[in-house]
Amino acid sequence: MTREIPAYWQNFIDGAFVDGGAGRLDVLDPGTGEKLAEQALADTADIDRAVEAAKRVSDSRAWMDLRPVERGRIVRKMGDYLLDRIDEIAPILTREAGKPLWEAKLEIEGAARYFEYYGNQAETMEGRSIPLGGGYFDFTVHEPFAVSAQIIPWNYPMEMTARSVSAALAVGSAVVVKTPELDPLTNKYFADAALACGLPAGVLNILCGLGQEAGAALSAHADVNQIVFTGSVATGSAIATAAARNVVPCVLELGGKSAAIVYDDADLDAFLSDVRWGIYFNAGQVCSAMSRVIAHEVIHDKLVDGIVGMAEGLKVGPGLEFRDFGNNMGPMISEAQCQRATGMVSEAEREGARIATGGRRMNRPGYFLEPTVLTDVSPDMTIASDEVFGPVLSVLKARDEREALEIANGTPYGLVAGVFTANIDRAMRASRQLRAGQVFVNEWYAGGVETPFGGFGKSGYGREKGREALLNYVQTKNIAIRIG
Ligand code: NAD
Repeated sequence: MTREIPAYWQNFIDGAFVDGGAGRLDVLDPGTGEKLAEQALADTADIDRAVEAAKRVSDSRAWMDLRPVERGRIVRKMGDYLLDRIDEIAPILTREAGKPLWEAKLEIEGAARYFEYYGNQAETMEGRSIPLGGGYFDFTVHEPFAVSAQIIPWNYPMEMTARSVSAALAVGSAVVVKTPELDPLTNKYFADAALACGLPAGVLNILCGLGQEAGAALSAHADVNQIVFTGSVATGSAIATAAARNVVPCVLELGGKSAAIVYDDADLDAFLSDVRWGIYFNAGQVCSAMSRVIAHEVIHDKLVDGIVGMAEGLKVGPGLEFRDFGNNMGPMISEAQCQRATGMVSEAEREGARIATGGRRMNRPGYFLEPTVLTDVSPDMTIASDEVFGPVLSVLKARDEREALEIANGTPYGLVAGVFTANIDRAMRASRQLRAGQVFVNEWYAGGVETPFGGFGKSGYGREKGREALLNYVQTKNIAIRIG
C-alpha cells in the first residue's frame, strides 16, 4: 500500500512557503502515468523576490561572516535532517522520479553525504601569504560569490541540488534553486532542513518554474553572481549566453556519451555487474552512464552474450516494487523521454545496428522501455555519438588499443570513460589518452563525493565534487599591505 502524499507543494522564498505566480503544475508518477501531486509554479516575479532575498541576506553578511565552523555545522545538520527522514522521503522520490526505492534511498544518502562533506570543508578554505619583501604583508582570502543561482535536472533531483547547495552554503553564499519541472517535490525537504537547522531566511530559496520562463529569468538576473547548471547541452549553452551578458561565471555539467573499453584480458564476470550499474541504474538516465561498450574483437561475442543475459534478467516495474538492491529497473521519467529513446533505437536499426535485446516500449501504463542492447554499432551511426539518456547500450567492436581509444574519443562529449583490463600499462596509457573529465579503471562509477567531476568538450566546464569544486564557488581576493 502506498502512503498518501500531500496534494500540493509550495515554493520556498525568503524563509516562507509560498504559492507560485504562474499557478500550479501537475507532477506525474512515471510508474503509472497518473497525477501524483501539484507543484506551485514560479513566475519571473517570484524569481525576482527570491534573488532579492538572497541578495539582501548576502549584503547583510549574516551568513558569510559566520564563523566557518558554525556554518559547517549547520550545513552538516541539514544532511542529517535528510537522513533522519529517509523513509519518508524515499517513496516520494520514487513516485515522482520513477527510480526503484533502494535507488531513491541511495540518492538521499548521496545528498546527505554532500552536506557532510562540504560542511566539513567549510573551515578549510584557507588562503596563502605571498612574500613581497620586508615592506609588505600580502595574503589571499576566498570570498563567496554572494548569490548563487542553481538550475537542477530531473534525473537526480535531490542529489544534484545537494551537490551545489551544500558547496555554496559551506563557503557562505546564498542560493536560489530552480528545481526540475518533472520531479520537483522532494526538493521541498531542503527547505524544511533549512528551517529546522537554523539557516537565516533568504540564504536558501527553492522554486519550481518552467525552464524557459523561471529558469531563463534566473540565469539572466542582474543580481545573480554565479550560475551552476546541470542539464542538456542546448540549455547549458543558452544559460552560458545569458550569463555572459552579465559577465557571470558558470559551472556547466552537461551530457555525455561515455565509453567503457573492455580488453581481452578483462575480468568479464566482474564487468557484467559494472554494465548493469553503468547503463541500467536509474534506467540509464545518468549523465555519466556507460552508454557505449567498446569490446576488443576477441571477446566481443562472449561479452555481448553475457550483457544480453544480464539485461534479460532484469525485472522492470514501478520503483515501489523494488525495495531492495537487486536486478531491477524502474520506468523512464516521462512520455517524451521514452518516445525519444525508442525513436533513437529505431533510427539505429535503420542505420544498420542490431537489437540484441529489448528496444520496445513495454505494454503497460507508465513510461517503461525494455533494457536494450544494440550491437553492430559503428562509430559513424547517430546512436554512437548522440546521448539517449535511457536504458540503451551500444556495443562497438575494436581491433586494437589504438582503434578503441579513437572510438572512445570520437564524440563531442567527454564526461567520463572507463577501461577494463588486467594490464596496468594499458590502463595507464588509456587513462592518459581518454578525453574525459574522469576515468574509471576496472570499476564504473568508482570514486565519490571526494573526487572531482566534470566534463571535457561539450560535457561542460567547471568541476563539481571534491575540493576542486569549492574553488568554483569562491573568488580569490588578494590583500596587499604596505608596512609603514
Ligand atoms: P534540460 O537542459 O532540459 O533541463 C535542465 C534544467 O534546466 C531544468 O530545471 C529546466 O527547467 C531548466 N531549463 C530549461 N530551459 C532553460 C532555459 N532556457 N534557461 C534556464 N533554465 C532552463 O535537461 P534535463 O532534460 O532536465 O536533463 C537531462 C540532461 O541533463 C541530459 O542531457 C543529461 O546528460 C544532462 N545531465 C548532466 C549531468 C551532469 O552532471 N553532467 C547530470 C544530470 C543530467
